[in-house]
Amino acid sequence: MPSTVGTKMQAYCAKCKADAEHTVLEADDKGKKIGNVRCGKCNDEHAFRRPKAGAKPKSKSKSDKPVRSRRTKSPELIASEEWAEVDAMVAAAQKTPYVMDKPFDKGQVLDHSVFGPGLVLAVLGPRKIEVLFRLGRRKLVCGAAS
Ligand SMILES: [Zn+2]
Repeated sequence: MPSTVGTKMQAYCAKCKADAEHTVLEADDKGKKIGNVRCGKCNDEHAFRRPKAGAKPKSKSKSDKPVRSRRTKSPELIASEEWAEVDAMVAAAQKTPYVMDKPFDKGQVLDHSVFGPGLVLAVLGPRKIEVLFRLGRRKLVCGAAS
């Protein structure tokens, strides 16, 4: 709907600090661009501002990732971020089925029956490894005779 001079429309008034009916004082010939408007409440003349209440927020595409708050960072989140870095590598790697009595080396990708695929982050001792899984880090026994 074209807004021409004299048209009354909702706009935001900085003086009233609210939306109010404004009279259009300036508009281009096609009514697409509105210049100054006059507030119906306080008669202040000012540049047109979109009404706040009626303004619809720009529709965001569903693929937009929600903004993560750093303050509410949970251990799970740290793990998942960690995981995101190695995810592609782990997916492409050849996986060794995890069994307790087998030794594993740092950087090896294993496949755990419960936790799924995981990357060996560190060898903590002769019989202990730290593995990064999708769920987070887990310490596993390895190389132990069952
Ligand atoms: Zn006003």
